[in-house]
Amino acid sequence: MTSRRPIVAGNWKMNGLLASLAEAKLVAAGLTAKAPEVLICPPAPLIVPLVEALKGTPVTVGGQDCHAKASGAHTGDIAAEMLADAGVRAVIAGHSERRSDHGERDQDVKAKAEAVLRAGLTAIVCIGETLGQRQAGLAYDVNARQLAGSLPTGATADNLVIAYEPVWAIGTGLTPSSDDIAEMHKRLREQLAKAGLADARILYGGSVKPSNAREILSIANVDGALVGGASLKAQDFLGIIAAYGG
Ligand code: PEP
Repeated sequence: MTSRRPIVAGNWKMNGLLASLAEAKLVAAGLTAKAPEVLICPPAPLIVPLVEALKGTPVTVGGQDCHAKASGAHTGDIAAEMLADAGVRAVIAGHSERRSDHGERDQDVKAKAEAVLRAGLTAIVCIGETLGQRQAGLAYDVNARQLAGSLPTGATADNLVIAYEPVWAIGTGLTPSSDDIAEMHKRLREQLAKAGLADARILYGGSVKPSNAREILSIANVDGALVGGASLKAQDFLGIIAAYGG
C-alpha cells in the first residue's frame, strides 16, 4: 500500500476571466468524500479572487510558473513568495509550453522548482518527450535526463510532484497506450527511488478527459493527472475526478 494521495490538477493556461470563477465553484460544489486532492492553476490575475472564491472548500489554487528569485528587477515576472502570499499551495515548473515558448532548460526548471520549495510550496515539475523523440526510441532517455536535470535540491516526497506529459499528447487528443504510460511511470518511479523520493507522486498529463480518465488513472504508478483543456469546464473536470469515485 502506498500513502500517495492522488491529485487531479487543472492547468487553465492563458484562459479564463473573472466569470470563470463560477466554473471553479461548481467543481468544489461537485466533489464527494471520495474525491482526490483537487488543484486549479488559473492565470495570475485570477489567483487572488480564486483563492477567495474557494475558501472553505477542499479545492486549492496553484500557480503556472514563477521566477527563480524572490524579488528584484524582473518586469512581468512573479516570485514564488508572491504566489505563496496570494494563497497558492503549489506551482507548476517546466511545463512544455514554458520550455518551448520561453526556452526554459532543465537548469532553469530546477531553479524555479527550488524557488517553489523555498517559498514553502509544492513544486509540480513537468517533463515529457516530443513525438520525434518517441519515434526515434529516445522517450525514456529524454525523460530520465529531464527528470535528473530538473529535480530541485531539497525536495521531499511531500513537496515534489512530477508530471509526465508527452509533448505530442498535450492538447492533441492523442494519448500513449496504457502500456506505454505504465512503463514510463515505472521507470520514473525507479529513478525517483534512487534519489530518495520513491513516494513522490507522478501525474500523467496529455489529453486526459472524462472518457479516458478511468483507464489512465488506474495504471500503476499514476498518482493523478495534470489536465489542460478539460479543466476549463466544471462538468468535464468533475468527470475526470469521478474516476476516483468522487
Ligand atoms: C497540459 O497542458 O498540461 C495538458 C495536459 O493539456 P491537455 O489536457 O489539454 O492535453
